[in-house]
Order: sequence, then C-alpha cells, then structure tokens
Amino acid sequence: MLKHFNELGLAEPLLRAIDDEGYTQPTPIQAQVIPLMLDDNDIVGIAQTGTGKTASFVLPLLNRIFAERRRPASKTCSAVILAPTRELASQIADSIRTYGRHMRVSVAVILGGVKPGGQIRTMARGVDVVVATPGRLLDLVQTGAVRLDATETVVLDEADQMLDLGFMPTIRKILAKLPEDRQTVLLSATMPKQIRALAADFLTDPAEVSVAPQSRPIERIEQSVMHVERAQKRDALVGILRTEKVERAIVFTRTKRGADKVCEFLQKAGINSGAIHGNKSQPQRERTLAAFRSSKMNILVATDIAARGIDIDGVSHVINFELPNVPEAYVHRIGRTARAGKSGIAISLCEHAERGLLRDIERLIGNTVERGDAPEKSIAGDVQQAEAPAPRERQERSPDGERKPNKPRRPKWRRGKSKGAGGNRSKGRDQSGNAPLRRAS
Ligand code: AMP
Repeated sequence: MLKHFNELGLAEPLLRAIDDEGYTQPTPIQAQVIPLMLDDNDIVGIAQTGTGKTASFVLPLLNRIFAERRRPASKTCSAVILAPTRELASQIADSIRTYGRHMRVSVAVILGGVKPGGQIRTMARGVDVVVATPGRLLDLVQTGAVRLDATETVVLDEADQMLDLGFMPTIRKILAKLPEDRQTVLLSATMPKQIRALAADFLTDPAEVSVAPQSRPIERIEQSVMHVERAQKRDALVGILRTEKVERAIVFTRTKRGADKVCEFLQKAGINSGAIHGNKSQPQRERTLAAFRSSKMNILVATDIAARGIDIDGVSHVINFELPNVPEAYVHRIGRTARAGKSGIAISLCEHAERGLLRDIERLIGNTVERGDAPEKSIAGDVQQAEAPAPRERQERSPDGERKPNKPRRPKWRRGKSKGAGGNRSKGRDQSGNAPLRRAS
C-alpha cells in the first residue's frame, strides 16, 4: 500500500492542495484508484462514501486536465461525472474546486430542478469538467446545448443509487453518446446485477477495486436500538438529542411528510433543526445544508434519497426515527457518521411494527444491534421503555453458540466508556451528560 501522495504521480498543484487539506496519506481507495486512472484504465470500484472516493477520481481527472492544458471547445467538456442527487453533484463540484485551487479548471454543474439557462450559457463556452445528474444532462445533450464528442473520461458515482432512482436507461443513453475510446470509471457501494451488466456493456477490460466489505457498516460506528412504541418516539428523540453530546445529528424518516413533522416538533421543543427532502426547492435545500454545514443548525432531518452522499464532517450521531424499508438504506444512513477516521453513533428507534425491518438489517450486517436504554425520564419527559421485545431478540449467543439467559444490557455508549471505539466521543461529554445543543431563538 502506498503511504504518500507524492508516490502516486500527481502534479505539484494537486499535491499542494492535498497538503492544504491536511491529508497525510492516501486512503485505500485513493491508493488503488489514482494510479489506475492515471494509467488510463477503466475501473469498477466498490466503495462507500466516507472512504475518500471523491478525491480518488477527482485528483487524477484534474491531473490530466493540468497536464493537457487544452482549452475546451464550445459546448464540450473533457470529463463528465454523473451523480444520483443534486447534493452529491454539488459536493463533487466543491471537491473539484478544492483540489483544483492551484490550477485553472472550469466546472459546470448541470442539475435538474433549476432553470437550464445558466447551465446552457456556461456550456456555450466549453468547460473542463461537467458534474451532472443524469436526467438534465441528457436533456441538454438532446437539445444540442452540450456535446459529448470531446469527452475523454466519464465517472459514474454511486451507481447503485442511480439505479435505485431509475436513472439506468438515461445513463445508458448518455454512455452511448460518448466517444468509444473514452475512459470509464464506475463506483458503487454495492454491485447488483444491473450494475455488473452496465459495466459489461460499457467498460473495456476494467480493473476491479474494492475497499469495504459489501454492505457492512463501518466498524467505528457504535450502533444501538431503542425499543419504543410509536407514540413515544418523539419524546425519545428529544431525550436523545438532549442527553447525548450531539455535535451534529442527522435524523432519518421514511417519508417527506414525516421529515417535516419531526422537524416541526423538534422546533417546538426548542431544538434548532431543518429538513431536507425531495419536496423542498433547490435553494431551500442548499440553505438548510449550508446552515447544517456551518453549525448554525446542528440537527438535520432527512429522507434517504435527500441525504444520499451528503458529505458533512463532524456528524456525531445518526438517529433513525423510523427504520428504512430496505435494509441496505440502514448502512447508507449510518455511514453519514464516522467519516474521515472519526467515530460515530447510530441510534435507531424501533416500534413493534418495525421489528421485522430490524431483523432484516441485522441479517444484512451479520450482527445484532445492541439494545439501548430510553433516555432518563427526568430529561426526556414521560418516555418509558417499551414493552420487552420478543425473547429471541433479547437473547444472545455465547461464542460456542449456546443461548445466554436474557439480561437487560446497557449499550457501550451508555456505560461511560472512555476508551476504544467510542473514546473520542466520550471524552467530550460533560458530567451531566447534557448536550450543548443550539436552541432556536
Ligand atoms: P468521500 O468518501 O469522498 O465522501 O470522502 C470522505 C471524507 O474524507 C471527505 O470529508 C474528505 O475530505 C476526506 N478525505 C478524503 N481523502 C482523505 C485523505 N487522504 N485523508 C484524510 N481525509 C480524507
């Protein structure tokens, strides 16, 4: 494994930007993908967000643009990056600006949900990199505002999410319009059949790289589940947010309406929060994310799709107000915390009707999620522990496979542990355990 960025063959302005960011060594995905991309290979990579995957493709793209120093012709771009959501596309564009700050690079962000005029005008000049969601890019290609005939590299980021969102036919149409001798890089957290088929149809002899075992949550995340009934969830959530030392938390709901409702009652409880979901306008979403990112507001309520790929450092907690219907979404959700080497906490509120979803999640992650206590009554109002869960959920197995007798357990994060996985977090908690939350004024 390469230990230093300067062993990867990147140009000096990029090494300087990496140094500005304070990165000391490449992450495993970067150590694998950067040399392969610089060497002009097609790549299929299995990598989750939080592994440093964005820099793994942005740095070699910029390296080529720096080395070629070619002015793009009108309406063309030398690289295209496709992402499933507007938020992820904007973040990738931000990364390009960050890593490209010591060189000249032009970027166009082509997203649905906003008027196309500005995007068309930017493209009229030609740019180095287009970062786009698939639908709008195909529209602009079909109307002639964007030409793909000079594109040398295409990156498909979070391909499995693009598949889930129904973008596969659009992506195929876009890929079919690119020059045949282009370089194609496909990154995905999981490798469902359709993604393998896409790779087989559009990539040439791709190198395969993989960094995290498929669908296994990052080990630094302390996971626990609280069994509470539906009516108690709101108090339980407020209790958690008040008792835990929350730097930044993302609260997940299943529906857009649910996200609004949770946000509303948090605000009524004096907790400064904002919601993002598909019914919010692009400027609204950007405002909310900016407030969250700058710590003006430290609780973000989100649906799965709106939160995909959001990369915000310092998310200390992910709270599943409702469990996701699809177990893979659990892995995506909790991956919002414990980024860039930090630890994180994921707490799920599970009502009786969601026990089946919890079992599906445990099957997927190959582990039981530890049971947590409801927040103390004095702080959380009248929250009570829900009825005891069915015996099989409380029982554990000893290493020899014998069932151990049931005993109520406090999860690690409630046992005042100060070392190991939760060390960083525990250090900051004050004696009373109260969270320094920002209150809405
Ligand atoms: P990503 O997986 O691309 O969403 O990146 C996750 C986070 O890791 C981002 O906040 C990056 O700024 C950070 N990061 C990327 N590369 C490195 C590195 N080599 N060392 C430390 N942090 C990094």
